[in-house]
Amino acid sequence: MNKVVIVTGGGRGIGAATSILLAEQGYAVCVNYRQRRQEAEAVVSAIQSKGGRACCFAADVTDEQQVVALFDHAEQQLGKITHLVNNAGILFTQSTLADLTLERFNKVLTTNVSSCFLCSREAIRRMDDGGAIVNVSSAASRTGSPNEYVDYAASKGAMDSLTKGLSLELAARNIRVNAVRPGFIATEMHADGGEAGRVERLAPLIPLQRGGTAREVASAIAWLLSDEASYVTGSFIDIAGGK
Ligand code: NDP
Repeated sequence: MNKVVIVTGGGRGIGAATSILLAEQGYAVCVNYRQRRQEAEAVVSAIQSKGGRACCFAADVTDEQQVVALFDHAEQQLGKITHLVNNAGILFTQSTLADLTLERFNKVLTTNVSSCFLCSREAIRRMDDGGAIVNVSSAASRTGSPNEYVDYAASKGAMDSLTKGLSLELAARNIRVNAVRPGFIATEMHADGGEAGRVERLAPLIPLQRGGTAREVASAIAWLLSDEASYVTGSFIDIAGGK
């Protein structure tokens, strides 16, 4: 079977590590990005330099038409979509509820959840012989992130519900839907939206005493997508160092 995967937000951070690992495992990979073209092209080059198949495509995955264009492009370049990783996401700076704006709340929900809905719907319209989807949720969906990112935590909680509901709705079509829930992973997300050095500052509070790596998250995603996990659907893997 020709395995073709779209990784949303695949140009950097967890998405880049996932794109590269899946290519190593024989997937043809479409690396989606929103703005950072150079990083996405670098991931494609890294894959191609090792003999893998990959392309990249700019699409804002909160936009219905851009999502369709992304899937069309991936299928034209690589073949029929068989797998999807809903990884694109945003996190803004820490805020209490009192200071949270409706604009920010809506932006976080749309980017983290509506994108997952739109891409999953587009994927299952094209998967007529089974398939697998992994959603990149967060440990925040369990903790709620009070005084910091309740908007982000709420978006990931919604993603968890979507994972469960879609897994049940799609099981009869042999499309599996699972999620990973990373803890603190040192990527630009913390530097951009959170606080530089946050992962290091919080490391002593993590049972394993350190932040995780993007590759550690990627390996769980790859397992959930794989045939090794063929009887796993509607499940969540916490990759949070025991937290
Ligand atoms: P990064 O900030 O490093 O990367 C975010 C990626 O999402 C980028 O590739 C970005 O594209 C893309 N993106 C954002 N908005 C859109 C959009 N509207 N359309 C298309 N792409 C978009 O973050 P991480 O790698 O850390 O995070 C990846 C996922 O993991 C997120 O869902 C995040 O919530 C989740 N996560 C991360 C944790 C962490 O500690 N880092 C912990 C728990 C979960 P571009 O490069 O073009 O800007």
